[in-house]
Amino acid sequence: MASHPEPEEPLAAELRADDALERAAPWDVMVKRGLRKRCPRCGGGHLFRSWVRMRERCPRCGFKFEREPGFFLGAYFVNFAVTEGLLFIVVTAFIIIKNANADASVVPPLIAGGAFAVLAPVICYPFARTLWSAIDLAMTPLELEEIVAARDHLDQKDGKEAA
Ligand SMILES: [Zn+2]
Repeated sequence: MASHPEPEEPLAAELRADDALERAAPWDVMVKRGLRKRCPRCGGGHLFRSWVRMRERCPRCGFKFEREPGFFLGAYFVNFAVTEGLLFIVVTAFIIIKNANADASVVPPLIAGGAFAVLAPVICYPFARTLWSAIDLAMTPLELEEIVAARDHLDQKDGKEAA
């Protein structure tokens, strides 16, 4: 089966000494970057082509956001938690208001809850993605091969722009 060995992986030969020395930002800095829709690794912006379409890599540092298949399932949970939190606030507020005034109408909280349930996931979507990226990066530091791949991506991009 192994009559045709795989070509030599060029990665190791292209390693630079400083690749292994990258210091990650503190976790709170990463989370703040995520909350501002920025790259958790470098703080760079312009990560989205549109409100819902995220670039594959950070244009500034080359960090690949989808670190493994199904990675952004975590962003779904962030979005879900925010939306559920808002609905919880609406329900709690309604209980308090209804307790003070038994005649309070159920219509305003229903409208508010419906609006939050529809709009919050859309509005929060890009923030949920960058925040999840930050949480994941804070918990799982970059592997050396991810650092090298990010740098190679930037080198290729620079090469294309120079050509
Ligand atoms: Zn970056």
